[in-house]
Amino acid sequence: MFTLPFSPTWRYGTDVRSTVSDMDALDTLELASHAGLPWVDLSLVLPRAIKPTELGPELQLPMLGGLPLVAHSNRLQYLMPYQILALTDQVDFDRFTARQDDEHTLEFEDERTEEAELTQAPLVRYTRHLLLDAISQGASDIHINPDPQGYLVKFRIDGFLQTQPAAPGQLEKRLLARIKVMANLDLTESGQAQDGALFVDDAIGRRRRFRVSVLPSLHGEKAVLRLVGHASGIPELQSLGFTHAQLQVIRGLLQATQGLILITGPTGSGKSLTLGRMLLDLARDDRHVASVEDPIEFELPDVHQVQLNRHRNLNFPTSLRALLRQDPDVLMIGEIRDQETAEIAIQAAETGHLVLATLHTKRACDAPSRLAHFGIHAHHLKSTLRHVIAQRLVRTLCGICQGTGCGECHQGYRGRTGLFEFWRPSDPERPETDDYQESIAHQLTLGQTTQTEIQRVLGEHHPIALPSAVHDTGIK
Ligand SMILES: [Zn+2]
Repeated sequence: MFTLPFSPTWRYGTDVRSTVSDMDALDTLELASHAGLPWVDLSLVLPRAIKPTELGPELQLPMLGGLPLVAHSNRLQYLMPYQILALTDQVDFDRFTARQDDEHTLEFEDERTEEAELTQAPLVRYTRHLLLDAISQGASDIHINPDPQGYLVKFRIDGFLQTQPAAPGQLEKRLLARIKVMANLDLTESGQAQDGALFVDDAIGRRRRFRVSVLPSLHGEKAVLRLVGHASGIPELQSLGFTHAQLQVIRGLLQATQGLILITGPTGSGKSLTLGRMLLDLARDDRHVASVEDPIEFELPDVHQVQLNRHRNLNFPTSLRALLRQDPDVLMIGEIRDQETAEIAIQAAETGHLVLATLHTKRACDAPSRLAHFGIHAHHLKSTLRHVIAQRLVRTLCGICQGTGCGECHQGYRGRTGLFEFWRPSDPERPETDDYQESIAHQLTLGQTTQTEIQRVLGEHHPIALPSAVHDTGIK
C-alpha cells in the first residue's frame, strides 16, 4: 500500500467518493500533459474494478506493477500523473509499454476488449462521437463557442450554423481542453491564438483531419474546427450541378495540355470542390499533377499537394517556382492574389502546363480586369486563358420532405449544388456571361432548388428567367 504524498482532495473538496468520481480522463490527461508524462487508462488492463470503499478514508492506494491506482467512480482506475511525478524514482515505466497515436492519447498495446471500450472516459468518448457526428452530418466546420454556462457546439452544414444538442453531464464544459490536447496545443496558454490539427478515424476507418483554430474571447476560448475534405467525398463531375452543355465544355477543357483555366467566386462558393474534382480526373499515372494551396481543402491522392507555410517561406511565388522545377504537367494554384503569382501562372500556362487557378471575382467576365490589376495585359491572356468559370452554391431541396421541413434537413433543404457561369474571352457568340441563367433554368427544371434560394445566393435583384412549367415552392 502506498500513501499519497498529498491528498487528491485538494481539487474536489473533502468527500473521497465524490473526489474519485469527479476524476476523469481529461483531468489526468491535462496533468500528464503538463508533467510531460505518459497517460494511461488503467481500465483497459485491470483484471477487475476497485471500488472506492476498498480504499481507506486516508486514500491509501493499491499498487499495480509499481504504479499507484486511483478508483474512478466504482469501476475505473486512472494513473494520476501528479502521483507519478512524485514517484518518478520508484516507477518502472518500461513495464508499461504505451504508445502514442495521432490523437495524442496513450493506450496499452494489449488488445482492447469490448468492456474496456465501455469504460473509456466519457469526455474522450463524447469528443470522438462529436467529431464523427460532424463528419456523418456533412458539416464543414465545428464551432465550440464559450458562454457563461459552458460551451455551445454548432456545426456548419450547407453553409448554415446549426446548434447541437447539449452533452450529457455538461461534458462540453471540458470539450475545449480535450480538443487542445488532441490538437497538441498548449493547454496552459489561453490568452493567445493557437492553430493546430487533429485526426480522427471515421466510421469506415479513414483518417480524417480537422484544422483547429483557438482564439481567446470574452467568455473564454473559442475553437473552430474545419474538416479537411476527403477525395471520396468529392462527387463526380456530372453530379456537381453542371448543365449538359457545361459538362461538355469542362470535359473538353480537361483534355487540354496547356493554358489557364480560372474558377471564380466568393469564399464558400464551392471552387475547391470543382477544382478537386478536376484534379482527380486529371491525375493519371502518366501525368504529374501538383497544387499549391492555402489551406488544403481536400486531401487528393495522386496529387502532389503543397501547403503554404509562412514560417518556412513557402508562399505562392516561392512554392510555385520550386514546383515548376519538379516537372509538373498540371498545376493548381489555390488563389491568384498578387502580381508575382499572376505572372508565374501566365508563364507556366504559356510554357506547356495546364494551369488551374481561382480568382476572387464575382462574375466570370471580370477575370481579365482583375488580372490587369495584377499587371497582366489582355494580349497575354489571349493565347493562354482558355475559360473562366464562375460559381455559387445553392441548397438543394430535401429529398425526404420535398421542402416542407423534416428531421433530416434544415429548413427544407439538404445538400448543395452549383450554379455556374461559363465564359471564354474569345467567344464571339457569347461576348458576355449569361448571368447564371443557363444554370438557373437547369436547376429549377430539375426541381433541385427554389427561386427563393437562388435569390438568396445571387442577390435579391439578380434576374431569374423562369423556365416554363416551373413554379417556386415558396419556401422561405
Ligand atoms: Zn426534409
